[in-house]
Amino acid sequence: MAVNKVLKGARNMHITALVKRTYGRMVDYLVQRGTHIVRTYIVDRTRFEVEDGFNLRRHRNGYVWSLRLDNKTCECGRFQTFKYPCDHAIAACMHQSLDYWSLVDPVYTLQSILDAYQGQWYPIGNDLNMPPREGDRIVPDPSTARAKGRPRSTRIRNEMDLTEPQSSRRSVSLQR
Ligand SMILES: [Zn+2]
Repeated sequence: MAVNKVLKGARNMHITALVKRTYGRMVDYLVQRGTHIVRTYIVDRTRFEVEDGFNLRRHRNGYVWSLRLDNKTCECGRFQTFKYPCDHAIAACMHQSLDYWSLVDPVYTLQSILDAYQGQWYPIGNDLNMPPREGDRIVPDPSTARAKGRPRSTRIRNEMDLTEPQSSRRSVSLQR
């Protein structure tokens, strides 16, 4: 929908002009969308209010979010969920000349990924040599068992599922 708006008025143009116009409009759109108004609320530069730029799609000013850099949370929820600075946190850092890379959680580091896969693995061995299991025997619930045969389809069929009559299909193949 937003791209349609960007391309509006660019139809029936020469291909080079069309590409240039599309490029220019996308840049304008992304620059406007990426703007934020940052208000600092505390002298130690940890609490901010960040207002999204004008939203071209909704034709309204953006939402206002409360941001805390000291505990890495933003009202938008993305900062604490992904443990990665959201666009509001990045805007606040740029506004205050702070390093936003320091807010990225160590879980995203290469070392963290390497650590996750360096665990030691051991061979399981032959099933026959496994000790017998002690305790109650676990059996599946028969009421949840699938019936024999092909499962019944729950898809809603429409006119595209209708097959052509055999005679017309044959006549088409003979014309080739
Ligand atoms: Zn945010």
